[in-house]
Amino acid sequence: MKIPNGHPRAESLRVRELIIEGMHQDIVAKAGLIAHGRGEAFDYLIGEKTPLFAIEQQTAAIAMILLAKKAIISVNGNIASLCSEDLVKLADILSVNLEVNLFYRREERSAIVTKKLQEAGAKNILGNDPEFYTTIEELSHSRRVVDKRGIFSADVILVPLEDGDRTMALRRMGKKVITIDLNPLSRTSIWSNITIVNNVIRAIPEMVSIAEKLKNESKEVLIEIVENFDNHKSLQESLRYISQRLNDLAEGELEKPKVE
Ligand code: ATP
Ligand code: MG
Repeated sequence: MKIPNGHPRAESLRVRELIIEGMHQDIVAKAGLIAHGRGEAFDYLIGEKTPLFAIEQQTAAIAMILLAKKAIISVNGNIASLCSEDLVKLADILSVNLEVNLFYRREERSAIVTKKLQEAGAKNILGNDPEFYTTIEELSHSRRVVDKRGIFSADVILVPLEDGDRTMALRRMGKKVITIDLNPLSRTSIWSNITIVNNVIRAIPEMVSIAEKLKNESKEVLIEIVENFDNHKSLQESLRYISQRLNDLAEGELEKPKVE
């Protein structure tokens, strides 16, 4: 679908088209469309731009990944459709691998997502070689397969867009989980060590810039950033931000879209 540039919601529609195209290519599962819609609703609440608290969350996330023994970025269909190129940049700059890990796993879909990442320039993509498959016992069948060389043995996992059950299972396995989730109330948000309450579309490229800066920082500085971060407080701050913003709107002028 051609989206007119002057459309007041052109950016949101462009992103929606990416997800729909991803579904036609079998990269995105049908449930991925619903998840995206929920994300859009929460993005409205934060004003569809990156708040300051999200920059702090993103900074803590990069510091934690840089301090990890072995970090890994888990990739699902939505994230592959929305920001493969930036995800590959982020993995490169942080020297970590990408692992394809789908909620609704099928070998063919896994292969298509892998190809999408390869086209974006990714080299070492895990999660596709049955020789290295292993399972997370607590999870139901199709969602439990992970790669021994990746998620299974990593100490820090960045899972943009995760499901609550899997986040809990990963935490029970002793992993540190970093997630990007526009809903500060989801089980994933609450169970993660670091929750980035932002749209992946903005968060991933911003994390690339943060990684460029933090990469050369000393270990002490990185440790301080991580130790000063408290996920519970940070989620509370994001809820305060949303309620304050809604209160301000309720008391004052509603933002009218520009008429061309
Ligand atoms: P949980 O299982 O963690 O309790 P849930 O069941 O409510 O959450 P899921 O469908 O499992 O939700 O996960 C989708 C989550 O991804 C939603 O919370 C949604 O807000 C978030 N989300 C969707 N699209 C984006 C996006 N582009 N950027 C960031 N978050 C997003
Ligand atoms: Mg869920």
